[in-house]
Amino acid sequence: MRILIVEDEPKVASFIQRALEEESYAVDVCQDGTQGLAFAQAVHYDLAILDLMLPGLPGLELLKALRAEKIKTPVLILTARSEIDQRVKGLDAGADDYLTKPFSIDELLARVRALLRRASGDPSGILQVEDLVLNPATHEVTRTGQRVDLTIKEYALLEYMMRNTGRVLTRPMISQHVWDLDFDTFTNVIDVYISYLRNKIDRGHDRHLIHTVRGSGYMLTAHR
Ligand code: CA
Repeated sequence: MRILIVEDEPKVASFIQRALEEESYAVDVCQDGTQGLAFAQAVHYDLAILDLMLPGLPGLELLKALRAEKIKTPVLILTARSEIDQRVKGLDAGADDYLTKPFSIDELLARVRALLRRASGDPSGILQVEDLVLNPATHEVTRTGQRVDLTIKEYALLEYMMRNTGRVLTRPMISQHVWDLDFDTFTNVIDVYISYLRNKIDRGHDRHLIHTVRGSGYMLTAHR
């Protein structure tokens, strides 16, 4: 899951970024509203966290521009405690949720999970394909009831694939959602991580869930 942070206070931005990266999300940061809009138009983000008071383009204008272009990325706005009317305007302009500063990082992470859950249409949040189960709240992954230990990147890749079960995922799609802007497209890092996941998820099981789609990419499905 790839998240955009648009926040001009470097301390706040890097605090949020670190917390999200520890939770396995891929994160890009913009400190300017105009740049933030360009990023949100260029990359299919799974979520955007948007400060309202921004240089360049105010957060509210950025949000309106996104919605005017039918970009449906869930948006969480950050507001100061005094900005009640801004909060209301933000929600009216298409924000999905808000958080007032200062906020606890645990609350921010919970709201991020809730927004991603809502976007995926599954109220419980638990992802399941056959006997493979992933809990985004705890990061626990099991196959046939056995715990599977994954690194942060392996987990992020598996979560993205499980949220898109049955769809062919091309390497560009995977890199857009699982890696951030520092991703080097000339490496075979995706194929390497797929092989790590196969070792941990499929090895020793009769039914394999991760499939190569020749010439296209990869797919996670039980029906193949
Ligand atoms: Ca600000």
